[in-house]
Amino acid sequence: MPRANNPTIGKVKCQTCGGLASVKQNAASFLYTCCFGEGTQNCGINQQKGAAVQGYIWSNAEWIDGEPETRPHNLPADEPKPPVVVEPSPVSDDGDVIDVKPEELEQLPPQPQKGESARKLLGAAFTVCCAVFLMKF
Ligand SMILES: [Zn+2]
Repeated sequence: MPRANNPTIGKVKCQTCGGLASVKQNAASFLYTCCFGEGTQNCGINQQKGAAVQGYIWSNAEWIDGEPETRPHNLPADEPKPPVVVEPSPVSDDGDVIDVKPEELEQLPPQPQKGESARKLLGAAFTVCCAVFLMKF
């Protein structure tokens, strides 16, 4: 088969057996995998041209010499990479409570009215006390 002349440009996990398959690229820029040996199940050559298969190989392959110059033409434009990057920082959900200041914690949940008025009363009382204290001198 003349296709066997295409050089191996990367390695990717075989979608069939989970082993390591060689990644090659044909004249039409389609990526395909050759699963032979190296302890795998010998799935053979997989030349599926569907966007899902091409996208899988493109985004999961470990390129030997960098990404191929020509992408498979049916590869989704920028789909493979952004989903990995665009994630809301999961750190804040885990709750780094130590980093959160007590004032911020108090402001987040809506304060019950009783507590609020009590705090206002305390503040007012404190102010009055200070005023009285200062006036004595
Ligand atoms: Zn395989």
